[in-house]
Amino acid sequence: MPDRILIRGGTVLTMEPGARPRLADVLVEDGLIAAVAPGLPDDGADVVDASRCIVLPGMVDTHRHVWQTQLRGVTHDWSLKDYIRSVRFQAAVFYRPQDMYTGNYLGMLEAIDAGVTTVLDFSHCVNTPEHAEAALAGTRDSGIRSMFALGLNDVPVPHPHFATLEQRIEHARTLRTKELPSDGGLVTMGISLSDVLVAGIERVTQEVAVSRELGVRITLHANAVMFPQPVSEVAFLDEAGLLGPDLVWVHMNQTTDEELRRVADTGGAVSTTPETEMQMGMGHPAHGRFMAVGGRCTFGCDVISNNSGDLFPQVRLALQTERMLRNDAELARRHGPDDIGPSTLSHLEGATVNGAEALGLSSRIGTLTPGKEADLIVVRGDAPNTLPVNDPVAAIVLHAHAGNVDTVMVAGRILKRDGRLLADPARRLALMDESHGHLFDAIEAHGGLIPQPPAPLPW
Ligand SMILES: [Zn+2]
Repeated sequence: MPDRILIRGGTVLTMEPGARPRLADVLVEDGLIAAVAPGLPDDGADVVDASRCIVLPGMVDTHRHVWQTQLRGVTHDWSLKDYIRSVRFQAAVFYRPQDMYTGNYLGMLEAIDAGVTTVLDFSHCVNTPEHAEAALAGTRDSGIRSMFALGLNDVPVPHPHFATLEQRIEHARTLRTKELPSDGGLVTMGISLSDVLVAGIERVTQEVAVSRELGVRITLHANAVMFPQPVSEVAFLDEAGLLGPDLVWVHMNQTTDEELRRVADTGGAVSTTPETEMQMGMGHPAHGRFMAVGGRCTFGCDVISNNSGDLFPQVRLALQTERMLRNDAELARRHGPDDIGPSTLSHLEGATVNGAEALGLSSRIGTLTPGKEADLIVVRGDAPNTLPVNDPVAAIVLHAHAGNVDTVMVAGRILKRDGRLLADPARRLALMDESHGHLFDAIEAHGGLIPQPPAPLPW
């Protein structure tokens, strides 16, 4: 007998193009979606009651630095420069492999709890090969689907294990061969590029070349730091003939419309992380401009050291910010807006099907289509903040939060049920206490998160 789970009686948003919400059952067999239809027989299946619930594909976060879980909220009043000094140049130095494990394991549980079933993990605290292995182990133990994007950037540790880029490249090759050879697994490999302003164009070009040799997706920050003068990563990759559909661009706030068009025309993806972009002075979120030139929006939570790992509010912020920008343009010519801009549905697509496409996974996940892998979530429509469900898309994008997520399934495996994560809560606390104790003792012993006087940045 196949392994069968029946999600019964929910309002199903398959997120297939043009599909209308409908009351239906979703049958999962051996990890795959077998059928979406009303009145399916259970035939001994494990039944999840989804009445008064909304069933939809699990959300895809296209930009998150999962290792930072222990640093939750430390940057809440800080600028981007403060973040770089405190997290990237200070805390990262004290991460041991076991801290990477804890950061990734607990960070991925946080994502699952909030209905995120896939994360593009921009892992840029790889101080040794063991750091990467531990992060991977934490991810795998959580049960989530992830693209582990190995950072090729340097971390300013006093005695670096990786003294040269060549050593990092060698490590990337080994990881691809030994740990992540398959592009069909639950965890697949990607590469995170160094920041151009820190590493220089020559190095980043080399990093792109090796990523393509490995045949993996590439993700990079653009415009994250724009002083003393703007650096256009799009322009330099375009001039070098390196734009392509394997690139996931992050923070395109300062990118011109013409450059966004080049990214869209070459099949690249864009990830918007509205909360960090707005707080940390990166500029207006660019996903609306990307959509205007034919691109498709996707979203990420970015850093848990600042904001939560709940993707619902990021999608909401992105939608309403874009509407505000469009409405402002109308108001500037003293005209009441007739068209407020992008639809709510377009942003739910951004958090589901578009994210899957950005990661090259749209043939496997992103919609509730028979034959695809069963990554889905069940969101309660009878909570005080979701009842009544007059429009299921609006309920998800404008009203829901992580606490409304009843059930989470990844590749047919249930990871959250009846509103509770199935992972051991005692282990979660023990891991955090040990790692948090080590990290904050070490940070304190070295002058705090931003040592005084603060380490100056050249921009
Ligand atoms: Zn980032």
